[in-house]
Amino acid sequence: MRIGIDLGGSKTEGVVLDTRGDQLLRLRRPTPQHLGYQAVLENVATLVYALEQDIDSRCTIGIATPGTLNPDGSVKNSNTICLNGQPLQRDLETLLMRPVRLENDANCFALAEAIGGAGRGAHTVFGVIMGTGVGGGIVVGGQLLPGLAHIAGEWGHNCLEPDGPRCYCGRNGCVETFLSGPGFAADYQRLGGSTGLTPPAIVQRAQQGDGIARAALERLLERFGRALASVINILDPHAVVLGGGLSNLEALYSEGPEHIAQHVFDTNLKTPILRNLNGDSAGVHGAAQLWPT
Ligand SMILES: [Zn+2]
Repeated sequence: MRIGIDLGGSKTEGVVLDTRGDQLLRLRRPTPQHLGYQAVLENVATLVYALEQDIDSRCTIGIATPGTLNPDGSVKNSNTICLNGQPLQRDLETLLMRPVRLENDANCFALAEAIGGAGRGAHTVFGVIMGTGVGGGIVVGGQLLPGLAHIAGEWGHNCLEPDGPRCYCGRNGCVETFLSGPGFAADYQRLGGSTGLTPPAIVQRAQQGDGIARAALERLLERFGRALASVINILDPHAVVLGGGLSNLEALYSEGPEHIAQHVFDTNLKTPILRNLNGDSAGVHGAAQLWPT
């Protein structure tokens, strides 16, 4: 059986999947970030042993964590700050006394949606996260495409507008600076909208006839179309599955495809743009599925 762990900044969650991919057990603990790296590692180990004790079986272990993973298994850009620069994979393997597979949360999302979610049956799936940040993962024939430098699918840092806002990665106008929740809220403010509104609140204002909110939403959809079309022209996936908080915007599915179609190298857009089916479970399920049955 397979254990999947979602190691997040505030909570660490684990599931056990049986050989058919069905969830047998799920446990959750706070991530003791304030106690430091070693405590976070030990918290993962305690969770793994609690899951194994419950089902009385030794399992494979896959871990999902936000941030970028270097090919050597070390972490950067994680919002669990104490993980940054640490050899997370090696240390977990030592602690758990077995090989551990580690992927960022966008790759785990893509895998979960390709195997048991909205992209099931599609040969090539581009899984997209539009949340606090923008990420993505590519699954081909049920396998993640890691790439040479482990950046396959990272469309969030393609340049969309060279004169755009500064991104944490050091460049300007990355897709993430527009298509993330904070990016959308910031764009609404640049147009003259009020501060502190969440994306759903901005969309609600747009629906109530607020001109600035409607303009911000139009810009979001236009940028969504332009950004995703550049991925579709390269990868030509059989399905695109959206996840993350901003992916709950209905307009991405009702109006998004026509905006993508304007920039795709085809007479019309064939790519299905799908809502995810796994919701908050995509991270843990995808992590468990890093190991085949
Ligand atoms: Zn960037």
